[in-house]
Amino acid sequence: MDMHALFGRTLPELTELMAGLGQKPYRARQVFEALYKQRVGSVEDITTLPHEFRDRLIAEGWRVELPEIAQTATSVDGTERYLMRMADGETVETVWMPDGDGGERGDGSEAAEEESSEVVGAEDAVSGGYWSRRGNGRDRSNFGTLAEQGFRRATICISSQVGCAVNCQFCLTAKLGIKRNLTAGEIAGQVAAVLNRHKIQIGKDRINLVFMGMGEPFLNYEQFMQSVRVLAEGIGIPESRMTVSTSGILPGIEAFAKETLRPKLALSLNASNDIVRERVMPITRKWNIAALLEAVQKIPLRTREWVTFEYVLLGGVNDQPEHAREVLALLDGMRAKVNLIVWNPGPGIDYHQPSPEDVAVFQKMLINGGIATYIRRPRGRDIYAACGQLKRTVAEEKPQLVAIAAAV
Ligand code: SF4
Repeated sequence: MDMHALFGRTLPELTELMAGLGQKPYRARQVFEALYKQRVGSVEDITTLPHEFRDRLIAEGWRVELPEIAQTATSVDGTERYLMRMADGETVETVWMPDGDGGERGDGSEAAEEESSEVVGAEDAVSGGYWSRRGNGRDRSNFGTLAEQGFRRATICISSQVGCAVNCQFCLTAKLGIKRNLTAGEIAGQVAAVLNRHKIQIGKDRINLVFMGMGEPFLNYEQFMQSVRVLAEGIGIPESRMTVSTSGILPGIEAFAKETLRPKLALSLNASNDIVRERVMPITRKWNIAALLEAVQKIPLRTREWVTFEYVLLGGVNDQPEHAREVLALLDGMRAKVNLIVWNPGPGIDYHQPSPEDVAVFQKMLINGGIATYIRRPRGRDIYAACGQLKRTVAEEKPQLVAIAAAV
């Protein structure tokens, strides 16, 4: 972490910092408010601080250090994908999805209630037709409030690492390998940068966060959790509007179970037995499905909270009726819901999409078996912003780019 970055520090940390600079505790509160409520971009803009103190902070090298939006790609459905540049030049991708992707549906949260009337069918999930139709014709040349743009809410998908070490076979991020962890400030800073771009007013506009971009949050656990605290206590996004997705890092799930302030959990299941899962997600060799489910069941769920199981449907690999039957057996008795994700194609990845018929049958079998099951809306496929497509813009001089990859 850059020792002089202010963004990402909690109030107690800022208080300690200000004390070290010979300042009273109320200065820490002023900086905290400026960083997270006003979302200022520079120390100069913290106008509640005296001029001389700002000058001193700047002279001593203190910076806000929000990630910079270096490139933007906009989908016909309104989704935006950003290349975010960190202070050291490393880049990750962040995705803005006005009206979300339906991922929260059925998980018991307030965000889920806002989703309930919108359903996407198997045909549209494979073709992407629903959102292309809805998105067409909207003028986004002037950013206003979400409502002014014609949306009721938005979801921001955040990255937690530069690249990823987990190597899920269906995911483009995996091809990057891991470069480094992001700091808490770099994780939460992606949100602030996007909120600023869209002039979002927290409290008025409804924002959901998903930690499902590049990287495995539970392999960067401390910084991820610190970013959650900053986003909740600083920026003011309730934890109930945040969901973290893990590929199944057992120690991370165990630590997560003990947190008092935490997002909702989504486990990226993607297979109905260990043999298929090992092929699709080699990390299964380290922690198998049974161990993961046992750990998940130890998380004390809040009232009306459900655990989400993400399931990427890969044509002919994990999308057949026998797989649906196995999923039902796995989740029997759990407070669980399933999000089906029709695999989004990516260059160099040797899978194919399931047929709409297989998607429909799979969903119906799970529902008939008593598991609430939804199909996630594909968002931003045309700009490679959909789940599993995030691969990071490779050549910044070539704006047509290939984009990041997302955890699912
Ligand atoms: S799906 Fe997530 S955990 Fe798996 S390789 Fe991609 S970014 Fe990493």
